[in-house]
Amino acid sequence: MAVRLTLDTSVKYIKGIGEARAAAFSRLGVETVGDLLEFYPRGYEERGRIVPVADTLNGELCAVEITISETSAPRYIRGNLSVFRSKAADESGSMELVFFNTPFMAKSLAKGRRFRAYGRMKIGVRGREMVSPKLEPIVEGKTLPYYVPVYKLAVPLTQKNISSAVAEVLHLCDGIEEILPLEITQNMGLISRGEAIKLMHKPADKKELSLARKTLAFTELAVFRLALSGMRKNIHKEKAFPLKMANTGIKNFFSKLPFELTGAQKRSVKEIFADLEKGTPMARLLQGDVGSGKTAVAAAAIYLCVKNGFQACLMAPTEILAAQHKKTMDKFLSPFGIKTELLISGLPASEKRRVREGIKDGSVNLVVGTHALITDNTEFHKCALAVVDEQHRFGVRQRAALLQKSEIDGSRAHMLVMSATPIPRSLSLIIFGDLDVSFLDELPPGRQKIETKVVSGDDTEKVYSFIRKEIEKGGRAYIVCPLIEESESGDDDRRAAESYYKDITDGALKGIPAGLLHGRMKPAEKAAVMEDFAQGETKILVSTTVIEVGVDVPEATVMVIENAENFGLSQLHQLRGRIGRGKNRSVCVLVNRNGGSDGVERLRIMRDTCDGFKVAEADLERRGPGDFFGERQSGEFSFACAAIGDMSMLGETDLLVKQILADSENPVYTAVFQAADKFLERTGGGLTVN
Ligand code: ADP
Ligand code: MG
Repeated sequence: MAVRLTLDTSVKYIKGIGEARAAAFSRLGVETVGDLLEFYPRGYEERGRIVPVADTLNGELCAVEITISETSAPRYIRGNLSVFRSKAADESGSMELVFFNTPFMAKSLAKGRRFRAYGRMKIGVRGREMVSPKLEPIVEGKTLPYYVPVYKLAVPLTQKNISSAVAEVLHLCDGIEEILPLEITQNMGLISRGEAIKLMHKPADKKELSLARKTLAFTELAVFRLALSGMRKNIHKEKAFPLKMANTGIKNFFSKLPFELTGAQKRSVKEIFADLEKGTPMARLLQGDVGSGKTAVAAAAIYLCVKNGFQACLMAPTEILAAQHKKTMDKFLSPFGIKTELLISGLPASEKRRVREGIKDGSVNLVVGTHALITDNTEFHKCALAVVDEQHRFGVRQRAALLQKSEIDGSRAHMLVMSATPIPRSLSLIIFGDLDVSFLDELPPGRQKIETKVVSGDDTEKVYSFIRKEIEKGGRAYIVCPLIEESESGDDDRRAAESYYKDITDGALKGIPAGLLHGRMKPAEKAAVMEDFAQGETKILVSTTVIEVGVDVPEATVMVIENAENFGLSQLHQLRGRIGRGKNRSVCVLVNRNGGSDGVERLRIMRDTCDGFKVAEADLERRGPGDFFGERQSGEFSFACAAIGDMSMLGETDLLVKQILADSENPVYTAVFQAADKFLERTGGGLTVN
C-alpha cells in the first residue's frame, strides 16, 4: 500500500526504507520526512573536479574520467577473497583500477566503456592505481553531478539508501514553510528555505551550495540570537540580592593582595561590582587569556558576596582544577576569616557529609567543587554568587541547574562565568548574547614570553636532542599528538600518541621516564599519570589534547605539538599556555608535517603572536566563526549550517534581531518566535529552568 507522503509522515513509508532502516534513521534523529529533508549531508565529494590522470598526486583524493582498455578475469586468492584489475586511461596517461570481492562487477568494466572514477590515487612501482574507486558511467547527454553528498550513517543504512530516500521526497521541499519573512531574506540576496534545503541535497555547483548554506545559516543564527535575547531578558527580570561595597573592607582586601591589579582586572572588577549591587542577577562572562588573572577577579567578587553575609560557590570542570582553586582561594580569602571547603566526588563519604553540613548550616562561606556540586544533593544556606570556571566545558543547562540550586526565597544567585579561550570581541557579543561580557585583555607584568618555533617533520632528530638537553637542565616536556592510535585503514597519517610513546621510549629518548595520557583512559589512570609528571617521576608526557584543561606544572619548559597544521590557532594557543609557568625560558615547537602553504602561514602567526585575543582574531579571519561556535556548541546548541556563516552575516543578524524585537507583535514574525521557543526547549530552556 502506497502512503501519500507529507512532511509529517514517518520515514518508514518512504519507498525502500521500512522498519529496520527507519530504526536506524531514528538513531540519527530522523523520524519524519521533514526531518530527513533537514538531515543535511555532512560533506560533499567534489567529483566534478576532474584531474588529468598524469597530474594526479600520490595519495590525492580525486576524480578522473577514464576509458577502460582491458579488464582481467577475477582471481581467487585464499578462500573466497577475489581480486580483479582494469587498465584504463585518459588523454594524459594510464592507470589501473583494482577491485576486491566484487567479481560480478568485472563484466561491466568492458573495453571502451567510460567512467568517472573517484578515489584515492596511489603511485607505486606499477604506476598509478585506485583501489575500489566509486564509478559512475559517463553517458552521452547526461551530466553527472558536481557534488555527491555524503551523509552520516547508522547501520544498516548506506549512502545509497539515504540518497535515494532523499530523492523520493525532495519535491516536498516546495511545501516547507519560511521561518523568516521571505521579503527579508530575498532583500539580502538569499533564497527561500525550501529551495535552500533542496539545494543542500542536490547542489549543481559551488555557487548553489554556498547560497543554500548561507540562507540556512542566516536563519539559524537569527533564531539563535532571538533565543539568547529571550534568555537574557528573562534573567534580568528575576530578583537577586544586591551586594554592596559599603562596610565590607573591600579596599583592605585589594591592598592585601600580593600584587597590584592590572588595568584590565580593575575595569572588570568595576563592571562586576556594578552588576552585583543591582537587585537583578548578574549573568556575566569574564573573558581572558591563560594567565590573565581571572582567579583574582573572581576572588574579589566572592569577597564582596561573603562580606554581605552570603555564601558563594566556585565550579571547575575537573577535580584537579577544583583542588587548585581551593588552595588559591584560601590564600586570597582566609586572612579575612572566609572559610572555604572543597567538594569533589573523590572525597571519602564522611568528609563529603561534613562539608555538605557546613554548606547547609552556613558555616562554610565558599564551596569549591566540580559539578558534583550540582548533581549531588548539596543544599546551600544562602548562596548569592556562583562562579563557573572554564565555561566552555559546561552547558547552559548545567549552569541553570546550579543557579536553581542556589535560589533562595525567589531570588537567584549572581553568576560569573570565566572562559578559557579568548574569543574575538565581535564574535563573543554574538555567541554569548545571553551574557554580559568583561574582557581581561592585558597580562600581569613581567611574564616570560613563550618562544614558539615552527619545524618540519624532517627535524625530528633535532627536536629529540633539544628535549633531552632541556630535561638534563631540569625541565620537563609535553608532546601532543592529534590521534590516540594509528588509523587502521592507513588513510590518516597523522601522528598517534600510543605509537609515538612507543617510538621514543624504545628509541631516540630511551632511558628518560615518560608517561602516556589520552582520553580513552579512566579518570583515575589519567590522574595518576598526571601526578607522576607533576611530581617529576616522569619527565616526558606524551598525550592527546586532553591536557588542555587545568594542568599546572611549572617545571615544564617544552611543548612539542605534532601535526600542528591540523589544529585551530586558538587551540594551539590554549595548549601552549601549559608551559611558561615557571621561572625558566619555555619553548613551544610546532611540527608541521603537511607542508601546505596555508598551514605554514597559520603556524607563523602562532610564532609571531602570544596574545590570545590576537590569535583568535587571526583564526576568525582565516577559518570563519565556525570553530568558535563549535565551542559554544559542545553538548548544547547544535547548528546544522551556521558553522560556516561569515562575519558580515553575523552583523546582519544582529540588526535583524533588533528589528524583530522592536516589532514583536507583528504576525510576520510568528514563525521565527516559534522557532526560537523550540530552540530553547531543545536546550533545556536555557537559564530560565523552573
Ligand atoms: P587565569 O586567567 O588563566 O585563570 P590566573 O588567575 O590563574 O590566570 O593567574 C595566573 C597567575 O598570575 C597567578 O599566579 C596569579 O597569582 C598571577 N596574577 C594574577 N593577577 C596578577 C597581577 N595583577 N599581577 C601579578 N600577578 C598576577
Ligand atoms: Mg584559570
